[in-house]
Amino acid sequence: MMFTLYRMEKSGASSTDNREGAAKRVRVLLPLPLAGPYDYRVPPELPVIPGDFVQVPLGKQVRIGVVWDPIDTSGYPAANAVDDSRLRDIEARLGTPPMTEAMRRFVDWVAAYSMSAPGAVLRMAVSIPEALTPGRPRIVYRLAEMIPDYRETSARTRVIDVLRDGPARGVNDLAREAAVGAGVVRALAGIGVLDAVEVFDDVPLPQPDPTLPGPELSDAQAEAAADFVDRVEASSFSVALLDGVTGSGKTEVYFEAIAKALSAGRQVLVLLPEIALTAQFLERFEVRFGVRPEEWHSDVPRARRRRVWRSVADGRARVVVGARSALFLPFRELCLITVDEEHDLSYKQEDGVIYHARDMAVVRARLEGVPVVLVSATPSLETVNNVKQGRYTRLHLTARHGGAELPAISVVDLRRDSPERQSWIAPRLREALTDTLKAHEQSLLFLNRRGYAPLTLCRACGHRLECPNCTSWLVEHRFQGRLNCHHCGYFTQMPTSCPECGAEDRMTACGPGVERLAEEVGALWPEARVELMTSDTIWSPSAAADIVRRVQAHEIDILIGTQLVAKGHHFPNLTLVGVVDADLGLGGGDLRAAERTYQLLHQVAGRAGREARPGHVLLQTHHPEHPVMAALVSGERDAFMRAEAEQRKLGNWPPFGRLAAIIVSGSDESDVDSVARLLSRNAPQTQDFKVLGPAPAPLALLRGRHRRRLLVRTTRSVRIQDRLQTWLASVRSPNAVRVQVDIDPYSFL
Ligand code: ADP
Ligand code: ZN
Repeated sequence: MMFTLYRMEKSGASSTDNREGAAKRVRVLLPLPLAGPYDYRVPPELPVIPGDFVQVPLGKQVRIGVVWDPIDTSGYPAANAVDDSRLRDIEARLGTPPMTEAMRRFVDWVAAYSMSAPGAVLRMAVSIPEALTPGRPRIVYRLAEMIPDYRETSARTRVIDVLRDGPARGVNDLAREAAVGAGVVRALAGIGVLDAVEVFDDVPLPQPDPTLPGPELSDAQAEAAADFVDRVEASSFSVALLDGVTGSGKTEVYFEAIAKALSAGRQVLVLLPEIALTAQFLERFEVRFGVRPEEWHSDVPRARRRRVWRSVADGRARVVVGARSALFLPFRELCLITVDEEHDLSYKQEDGVIYHARDMAVVRARLEGVPVVLVSATPSLETVNNVKQGRYTRLHLTARHGGAELPAISVVDLRRDSPERQSWIAPRLREALTDTLKAHEQSLLFLNRRGYAPLTLCRACGHRLECPNCTSWLVEHRFQGRLNCHHCGYFTQMPTSCPECGAEDRMTACGPGVERLAEEVGALWPEARVELMTSDTIWSPSAAADIVRRVQAHEIDILIGTQLVAKGHHFPNLTLVGVVDADLGLGGGDLRAAERTYQLLHQVAGRAGREARPGHVLLQTHHPEHPVMAALVSGERDAFMRAEAEQRKLGNWPPFGRLAAIIVSGSDESDVDSVARLLSRNAPQTQDFKVLGPAPAPLALLRGRHRRRLLVRTTRSVRIQDRLQTWLASVRSPNAVRVQVDIDPYSFL
């Protein structure tokens, strides 16, 4: 066993490794939203190299930063342009493994692309600052060099034998291996037979075993897997799209690539869009490789994340599965990234540094010189276009594993076959649910709306209950007994009288949310076991895992859920999917509304009939002739995507043109308006750079801030960031007004 020692070298102490000859003045990037790195003096006794984590003074504080690269590599001038005599000294160098060059270039790249401060991006890469410093040391015991005379017992002899054959061990491990009590070990240390040593290592991690047998792959699966294995072996940048119908075994296929990476002794990053999906992934991984991979997302306790960060940095953690932020982990020997459900919207980070994790995964793979595999049953138009352009290679799985049929999809035309008043399940869907229950099979009712009702109004005066901070209706959550704003977290009690006209008991719920649907289901099939799966009921991967387990054990007959149920889950006995409002995502004028709706509904539909029993799907819609519904019914995905692409191309919308959104926000509406107008007046309007707006953002008021939006559309050849930079710099705005840039916007809030 090797101990990694995380020591800290202080200035003034002597240094042992060969960092001599380094520059006397270096730039240090701090994880703060500053304009650029700061210059510091390097004390002769504390040489540093780019990537080293160092402690430096900043004002009256001490900060941890990373020694950055000279300007010709990183491109940044120093933010503190002082002459040598006024430079401050680097105070200490941390023993943390230096940040790799690929990682530093990645930070630079994301900062430049997203137009964020490089320090703000660095902060994502050191999101757990305590991971940079050693934790409390662990005490391990080894045999003393000079063993004094002592009284021998068989227990003591066993301890000594264990240590003679192996490395130093902690008291518990030692006691267990020698089959003695901990007191025996301590006593031996007390009389000087054992030496207690402090080590700053983290414990070794159990390693996934790539030699365990995987399932026997079908020909098509084997072909795709072989391609991925070749890519991993080639160990150079490439992008592959694994395009396979739901249930075709995409996970099994990319597991083969992971196995290859593991046998090469290197590291793998698996991105998943939704933490609710990780539980199932962890289990499948364990079945395949014997141990669980490391997990990284906001739900993992901080102390645990600290350990994961460190074990990724020193190479002990081999496979990490995580949400988009895992992209900023300090891998040393990365050799593969996979992005599952690559089309998923939750890969877009909307606050702070705004970035798209799928796109940045491709960037990181390029900078690391490793392959990236994008996985989806409904690839995004961006990715489809990259395949068409020959930039990405597509591998295709056209059939479900084990001969399972794809579900039959049909529409329920709500204009003819409509539900009764104040109910949402049309007669045809009702019959199908009854039949499914009779057949002892399971159903899924999908409605992408949390809460009880999306709108509450007064029947006396028509007043609608609205959030005081946002342009949005308050959503009734009956289980919680309150009204919530889904944008800012505001909530309030349901009033008994109208706040506008004072009428008593006239407040009425309008439209359905999943809770209301559950009420209807309960009334129609009182004997059925019904469960809700939404982000209100599932707040942790283990809660998600529990519901998944109960569905799989057939403890639930009808599952009702929002988009959370659409994703990835494998429910063998689920044969009916009813989409309560298939039109829900189509309104709103979003550029990607049709694509998104198609992807979401296709994914929900894919939950049906995944094993022996065939599945069917009913889509309740007012627009059966809409191209999205038509494509879902006919299964002609590619034709639908081609038509989408044609439309986007005509308007020069992404992925054919570039788009950026500029959101101007502030608490004073007239300030916001004047900045937005000024921006518009100064806009560099040219053929290839079109500025649209300003217009009130669809959420014109969000969390108490007024918002105006400008959209910039350019051709692909334009370096949009450069132009934006010049333009935005030409407009001065008061401090209270914020101008935020979103490159490649996805959300049109
Ligand atoms: P997808 O991700 O494409 O929807 P999965 O990888 O979840 O598909 O596979 C669907 C189910 O089929 C899983 O239970 C998986 O274990 C199983 N499966 C897929 N391929 C094989 C195979 N070659 N042998 C055995 N089981 C398989
Ligand atoms: Zn609100």
